[in-house]
Amino acid sequence: MKKYQHLFFDLDHTLWDFERNSQETLEELFYELGMNELSHVEFSTFMQSFRTINHALWDSYNHHQIDRKTIRTQRFEMIRESLGMPNSTIFEQMNHAYLERCPQKPHLIPHSLEILTYLKEKYELHIISNGFEEIQKQKMKSSGILTFFSEIITSETTQYRKPSKEIFEFAVDKIKTDKQKTIMIGDNLTTDVIGANNAGIDAIFYNPEKVKHDQKVYCEIAYLLEIRDIL
Ligand SMILES: [Mg+2]
Repeated sequence: MKKYQHLFFDLDHTLWDFERNSQETLEELFYELGMNELSHVEFSTFMQSFRTINHALWDSYNHHQIDRKTIRTQRFEMIRESLGMPNSTIFEQMNHAYLERCPQKPHLIPHSLEILTYLKEKYELHIISNGFEEIQKQKMKSSGILTFFSEIITSETTQYRKPSKEIFEFAVDKIKTDKQKTIMIGDNLTTDVIGANNAGIDAIFYNPEKVKHDQKVYCEIAYLLEIRDIL
C-alpha cells in the first residue's frame, strides 16, 4: 500500500531556479542602470557579492535573527559597502527593480515540469516555503507551475519559518492528513530536511552539488528525476 499521499516541495533552488533567475535579473539591471559606469567593479564580482550576502541574510532570516524587511532594505547597501562602491541612488533603484522583476523570471531547475507532471498523477502536491507569499506565487505563475499545487504555505502567512517544526505541523493540519502520509522535498539540509524530520516527517534531500555532510537522511538525490525511483 502506498505510504505517502501528500508531497511538500520547497520552491527556491528546488523547483524555481533562483540562481539563474536572479543572475539574469541582476545582469540586466547592472547595465540598464549604468552600474558599470559607477565604479570599476565588474558584474561577475557584483554577482559574487550578491550571492554571499543574500545567502547570509536568508540564513539569518531562517534563524529568526532578522525580518523580511531587513533582507529587502539592507541587501544592496551591504553589497555596495562590501565592494567599496560609491554612494548612489542606483542601488535603491536596483533594489526596487530587482524585487519587481526577478519573480517574473521563468527558469526552473531541470526536469521540474517532468517530475511534477509524473507526481501529480499519484499524489497531492503542496509548497512549504520561507519566501514571501506574493513573490512565491508570482514565481510559480511565471514558471508555469502554480496549477500543480493545492496548498502554498509560506512563513509569511503562518508566522513560522522552516526549520521550526510548527510550519510542518501547520501544513499537515491545513491539509487534514497525518504526518506519516507526507514527505518533504527540498535542497536545504537544515530547513527542509532536518526541519521536517524534527516534525516527524520524512524528507528527500535534493543535493545537486553533492555537498558532503554527516546528517542521516531518508533519501538523497542529485537530479529531480530520481524521485521517480522513490515515489
Ligand atoms: Mg530552497
